Amino acid sequence: DQAHIGVTGLAVMGRNLARNFARRGYTVALHNRRRERTDDLIEQFGSEGTFVPTYSHRELVDALERPRRLVVMVKAGQPTDDVLDELAPLLDSGDILVDAGNANFEDTRRREAALAERGLHFVGSGVSGGEEGALHGPSIMPGGSETAYSELAPLLGDIAANVDGTPCVTHVGPDGAGHFVKMVHNGIEYSDMQLIAEAYDLLRHGLGREPGAIAETFLHWNTGRLDSYLIEITAEVLGHTDSRTGKPFVDVVLDQAEQKGTGRWTVQSALELGTPVSGIAEAVFARSLSGHAELREAAQGLPGPSGSGVPEDEADRFVADVEQALYASKIVAYAQGFNQIQAGSAEYGWNIDLGAVAAIWRGGCIIRAEFLDRIRAAYEANPTLPTLLTDTGFQQALDEAQDSWRRVVATATSLGIPVPGFSTALAYYDALRASRLPAALVQGQRDFFGAHTYRRTDSEGVFHTEWAADRTEHEA
Ligand code: NDP
Repeated sequence: DQAHIGVTGLAVMGRNLARNFARRGYTVALHNRRRERTDDLIEQFGSEGTFVPTYSHRELVDALERPRRLVVMVKAGQPTDDVLDELAPLLDSGDILVDAGNANFEDTRRREAALAERGLHFVGSGVSGGEEGALHGPSIMPGGSETAYSELAPLLGDIAANVDGTPCVTHVGPDGAGHFVKMVHNGIEYSDMQLIAEAYDLLRHGLGREPGAIAETFLHWNTGRLDSYLIEITAEVLGHTDSRTGKPFVDVVLDQAEQKGTGRWTVQSALELGTPVSGIAEAVFARSLSGHAELREAAQGLPGPSGSGVPEDEADRFVADVEQALYASKIVAYAQGFNQIQAGSAEYGWNIDLGAVAAIWRGGCIIRAEFLDRIRAAYEANPTLPTLLTDTGFQQALDEAQDSWRRVVATATSLGIPVPGFSTALAYYDALRASRLPAALVQGQRDFFGAHTYRRTDSEGVFHTEWAADRTEHEA
């Protein structure tokens, strides 16, 4: 019997996706560059379902029913190109290649176009949820043709996470749309993690609470509107004690955050698109700053404020304020990320349904949260909502939060606790709200030194003032 689907690249992600398909009753052809991984999977998990081990690309291709469905789960970048180059000549028109790795969406666009010329369907698909998600149900963000999606949908629907009977998979849009959305997902993830880290820092250094106590606070928050996977694991990490020293785990970990690059991609793309994703950018820069040991070392002696922490009799209010600030900043971070998807969709002609994206992020992925159902509902109620901030529900939440939010940023500033995520979110909110921005002055400066021209509030057209001469204005 021919296999329903094949998987090549059997490291943690590929192996678990293959097992997930097999556990759902699909016959899965297996392949890996080094045969040990294939043999190892059969030996350890062969009893979980029907696997067909293969040891060459030819054997792999021959093992598949038609149209072939083949998932590539190898290292992103050049290795993916190498594997696609080897597989493409062995496939027939109408076959479907899925790249489920973390590809850059520009690469996916290029690969899709090249493979389409050979009559092959190429599906660049984001997969989120890490190792556990791949095995038990990830959130899946496939791009590519409608035809390819219809061939894959039943299988992907079976292995994806499920929320209220709805699988966390949707056809995001053509070519690079799936990997683009996965990229923004990761950018939002950076932002969310940074905001949570700032909330922790405020409770730790503003209030002087111990990690164990802060873990309790996060657990409590997790029973409310902040209920999410990231808050849940934050409580776990903060509650963990280092077995070697008996100290809180968070105190023995080197405070230099690393990154693999998807956050950077998100910001690079946002710069190209002209979408202000300041929350994501600050989160990427915060990681980068933390890693500059030499800069931080050099700055150790710089003076800070003299004020002490938040007084104990204000502690309860401060904790409540931090929860409000975290929630409000989170709304801004997601609003920015969704605006980037909207901009990417317009730029590349993807026609992405923002509500559907929010819906498939409700389960399986790293940013899964009850919150995403509110975003889904907001876009369902108004698919052309210019920003999530103006959705009635979110607007109410921001209104309720804003006094707390401002107090938290003010307190952090006076105590010298860096809150780039909270403060940039608040600045974004205030800038969008403002009826006049000092951008008018910037335009004046630009016109002064570079004759870059400006537009007026009271008449159509483009103008220039003769700054160096008699300062008369004329239409440019
Ligand atoms: P890795 O990214 O570590 O990749 C290892 C796999 O790639 C192995 O199967 C390896 O084969 C294969 N490989 C590497 N180079 C080549 C090559 N030139 N030709 C053929 N095969 C090659 O594995 P992961 O499972 O961690 O991730 C797979 C993909 O999924 C990546 O794109 C990753 O970014 C993405 N991803 C990972 C997540 C995670 O949590 N780890 C989450 C979501 C996506 P061999 O065994 O022979 O060395």
